[in-house]
Amino acid sequence: MEIVNSSVSNASSNPRVIVVGLGAHGSSTTYQLAKRGITVTGIDQFHPPHSMGSSHGPSRVMRMAYKEGAGYVPMLRRSFDLWQELNDLYSEPSFHLTGGLFMGQPDGRAISGIHTASKAQNIDISIMTPDEVRRKYPSFNIPDEWEAIWDPKSGAIFPEIAITAHLDLAEKAGAELSFNEKIEKWSATPSGVTVTTSRKTYEADVLILTSGAWITEMLANLKIPFEIERVTLWMIEPRANRDFFQAGTFPNASFEIFEKYPLYMQADFGTGVKVALDHHGVTTDVKSINRNTTREDYVIWW
Ligand SMILES: Cc1cc2nc3c(=O)[nH]c(=O)nc-3n(C[C@H](O)[C@H](O)[C@H](O)COP(=O)(O)OP(=O)(O)OC[C@H]3O[C@@H](n4cnc5c(N)ncnc54)[C@H](O)[C@@H]3O)c2cc1C
Repeated sequence: MEIVNSSVSNASSNPRVIVVGLGAHGSSTTYQLAKRGITVTGIDQFHPPHSMGSSHGPSRVMRMAYKEGAGYVPMLRRSFDLWQELNDLYSEPSFHLTGGLFMGQPDGRAISGIHTASKAQNIDISIMTPDEVRRKYPSFNIPDEWEAIWDPKSGAIFPEIAITAHLDLAEKAGAELSFNEKIEKWSATPSGVTVTTSRKTYEADVLILTSGAWITEMLANLKIPFEIERVTLWMIEPRANRDFFQAGTFPNASFEIFEKYPLYMQADFGTGVKVALDHHGVTTDVKSINRNTTREDYVIWW
């Protein structure tokens, strides 16, 4: 998320905020601002949830066992509470607690990264032996020399429900929402920001850019070296032992079989078992991205 012209001190006591992009990030931002009584307009070029950005599809992994760095953990703790709060507030759950099992060589990047983050932030995790894993989860026949870390606060986020919930609650809290309206340009002014869209021109105190992969267009003048990665996932129908993979039985799971990019899986919530690689996508941009499945998307498996 980029916050442009955060000179709120110049603004009135109730700054007028425009949020550009209402995917996972923008919809929650718009709700959190509206909830605090801030005058906020959320704008999207499409009608979210839609399939053109990053926040579509059946599920996403939420985890505390964060190999990427201890600095994320306070934000993860806060977001864990907010997901639970959202479930309490909305008729359909956006978050389902499954627990998570992260498996690999003890000195691999994933396992050692989780231990480093855990030591710094005292994350509530525990170790399972490979034998315990194989007995509790017969679908995971992991080698004896591997280590498995159990994260009780890992779960599945349903991103499309989350967007709908956040936008609904944002509107009820007083946010103005506008869909199928594209921001064409913006510029900072001495008192705030001017935003020109396909429909009209807005004046605001603060502009928040939650535009996902389109951020390169929104901040083209700033020459920030953003990298847009095309990431794919597979939804798989198990041919046998389907009950092993059902939500309620099957945790979020990752296996560090490729050195840099763990393979991860999520339970079947009704649309199949999610299997994906953490990153490993090609660098692209929103204009030329290939939105079809390619042979290269499968090659990594064989
Ligand atoms: C296959 C895949 C698997 C993933 N798995 C995980 C996971 O397991 N766990 C996890 O935490 N994360 C995961 N992620 C990442 C996560 O999904 C993204 O970080 C998140 O969805 C990004 O949301 P966003 O709101 O930033 O972007 P988006 O959802 O892309 O939203 C950006 C919005 O901005 C709008 N917009 C852009 N430009 C303009 C404009 N000029 N005018 C108006 N509107 C505009 C777009 O229309 C869009 O709706 C995964 C991503 C992918 C693709």
